[in-house]
Amino acid sequence: MEMMQPNMEDSRSAEAVLSVVIPAYEEGSHIKSSIGVIESVLKENKIPYEFIIVDDGSRDNTWAELKSLTDTNPKVTALRLSRNFGKESALCAGLTYAAGDMVLVMDADLQHPPELIPEMVKAWRNGADVVDCIKNSRGKEKPFYRICAKLFYYILLKTADIDLENASDFKLMDRMVVEAWKQLPERTTFFRGMASWVGFERKQLRFDVAKRVNGKTKWSSYRLLRLAVNAITSFTSVPLHCITILGILMLIGTIVLGIETIYMKFSGRALNGFTTVILLQLFIGSSVMISLGMIGIYLTKIYQEVKGRPRYLIAKCIKGGEKK
Ligand code: UDP
Ligand code: MG
Repeated sequence: MEMMQPNMEDSRSAEAVLSVVIPAYEEGSHIKSSIGVIESVLKENKIPYEFIIVDDGSRDNTWAELKSLTDTNPKVTALRLSRNFGKESALCAGLTYAAGDMVLVMDADLQHPPELIPEMVKAWRNGADVVDCIKNSRGKEKPFYRICAKLFYYILLKTADIDLENASDFKLMDRMVVEAWKQLPERTTFFRGMASWVGFERKQLRFDVAKRVNGKTKWSSYRLLRLAVNAITSFTSVPLHCITILGILMLIGTIVLGIETIYMKFSGRALNGFTTVILLQLFIGSSVMISLGMIGIYLTKIYQEVKGRPRYLIAKCIKGGEKK
């Protein structure tokens, strides 16, 4: 594999091009206006730019909107995936096509405030390789979700040393970082985690999550759970070691209870202890099943990686301004 040359400071000029990568799934009602808002911020601040919009297999009019946008706007490249692959895969596609000196990733629903872009670009010009935007608050959500999210971030922090609490996918990355990111070979990706794993000079900015302009969120509880499991299994094998630790704890319990049982037997009081037997049965049964399940999750992951299927398939690609 080729090593990237470290970025020369003087390439961070005012002429440096910013690639804005936006994954869009069923955002047809507002994708054009969202891009318009972002574009006006870029123009106002005289930041050279290109847009890479990835239609993640939407069934609504998103693709038609993007197509008509490429007719009039030469700065827009529209990609269409062959089906809905999920945001992570859409991001991969976008990052692969982005050609700018820096790449900005943001959502299509304006929940990531475009007003922050000039500040991010400024941070990049001042030497930051990655500009992470951190959410000031998580917005409104059910207490159960909040607890699950906290637990998820806690596990990742403690086991993989990756702090993603309040992190978002709203990020600006230097070309060198994108190239490093592209070298990570895994099939099932977790952008936020991988972008943190690569390291480099980082700067954090804070922002308030805006309201979705239109449409609704595509993250069901099931999708969120799948993302969380994927993130944890991608970055840590600690759950597997937990099984071993559980086994050792149970062995200690076995020794204690074994001694007690033998003592009872010889002192003629052996019939007692029905409850203990039932509880032990249940405990051992459930921990064996959970352990097998955990091994199963990692096994599935290995299986999927070994198959080596592509992260996404591109059905169409239109570069704005090109004659078709
Ligand atoms: N998205 C995508 N593929 C999907 C789901 C979502 O490309 O399968 C995009 C979506 O169009 C948006 C971004 O990912 O630009 C964030 O999605 P959403 O706003 O639904 O998530 P939330 O902001 O509620 O976390
Ligand atoms: Mg959103």
